[in-house]
Amino acid sequence: MKKQPFVTKEQLQEIVKEYPTPFHIYDEKGIRENTLALKEAFSWNPGFKEYFAVKATPNPFLMQILGECGCGCDCSSLTELMLSEAAGFSGEDIMFSANAMPAEELVYANKMGAILNLDDFTHIAFLEEAVGGIPETISCRFNPGGQFSISNEIMDNPGDAKYGMTREQIFESFRVLKAKGAKRFGIHAFLASNTATNDYYPVLARILFELAVELREKTGAEISFINLSGGIGIPYEPEEEPNDIRAIGQGVKKVYEEVLLPAGMKDVALYAELGRFMMGPYGGLVTTAIHEKHTYKEYIGCDACAVNLMRPAMYGAYHHITVMGKEDAPHDHIYDVTGSLCENNDKFAIDRRLPRIDRGDLLFIHDTGAHGFSMGYNYNGKLRSAELLLTKEGDVKLIRRAETPRDYFATFDCFPIGKFLT
Ligand SMILES: *Cc1c(COP(=O)(O)O)cnc(C)c1O
Repeated sequence: MKKQPFVTKEQLQEIVKEYPTPFHIYDEKGIRENTLALKEAFSWNPGFKEYFAVKATPNPFLMQILGECGCGCDCSSLTELMLSEAAGFSGEDIMFSANAMPAEELVYANKMGAILNLDDFTHIAFLEEAVGGIPETISCRFNPGGQFSISNEIMDNPGDAKYGMTREQIFESFRVLKAKGAKRFGIHAFLASNTATNDYYPVLARILFELAVELREKTGAEISFINLSGGIGIPYEPEEEPNDIRAIGQGVKKVYEEVLLPAGMKDVALYAELGRFMMGPYGGLVTTAIHEKHTYKEYIGCDACAVNLMRPAMYGAYHHITVMGKEDAPHDHIYDVTGSLCENNDKFAIDRRLPRIDRGDLLFIHDTGAHGFSMGYNYNGKLRSAELLLTKEGDVKLIRRAETPRDYFATFDCFPIGKFLT
């Protein structure tokens, strides 16, 4: 499938007059349409709710859009909780799914009325001590251990993952929580990331649904919700087939009918905590080619670098690049597209076949809407970029300004900075 940016070269040329590159830009229309498709795919389950994984794109303006579409949010830290609050979320529209969380974060989440998703048996006592009791609604995270495979293909290694409770521990947790007053229970598992198959959710659903039936039988706990969490992937490469969310919804429905209905569990709500799937394709990093260099290889140096998008440096991840206005030009050059960090892994693309790039060309780096800006850091004293929203009306709105040196130095109290800064 040909990957096309959701903005045109002409639009971007207008935008950069007001907002210099680099910046991340998000597509409101795409976000809304995709969220609607997700909701439709699971409309057979009346309690279905997507809790957006805030860590993927922690911007309250984008979270508000999802809130308007009926989503809640999934948080793992104090500031994510605060962001959710600022974006208008409250109570059980917030899932707090932290591991190794400090007590004060639990206290804050509990005050907000968020659903707490416990990562370990020992967190029951930790929670009791932190907040003085056990909430009536509570969730536990399950880790089946071993390897997780789908039709003989190994997807991931839950046995090596720090998350979740063993089978024995989750049964024991339910018994203890019930004795301490919990009334509505949920279970949660996240077993593979960025999956490229419509079978991930259905296979995970079967594991969790069977566990839910057994947990109810053996502990008498009322299972209110089952959280399939994140992990539905997106096609980063142009040849990749996108997941079909309708097929995924139908696949989960089939398992629901096979496992939960015969057990008399027809009112269990399904939750999701998708991050990448909700936002990934609807964000792009726009950067200007500011240098070209010809040594042992051909290099294009950009004004963005790995601090704006870490995935290529961190995971060797592929992000498609469109050279704006040269979509149909012959791709007859081979470039490393780099940033300016003193790190040789600061490359958005290595040996990438692209059209000839000239200084001043705008590059659109695709699929940065999730785990893009949010993984940013300040290495080499680089500053975080702005975030812009292309609204559904076609206007451009600044939803986070770029950092300035003042922001970077803000944590040195009273440090005299930048005499050349105005
Ligand atoms: C990261 C995370 C998610 C979102 O994962 P995606 O791969 O972006 O869908 C959901 N839930 C939890 C607990 C997470 O840590």
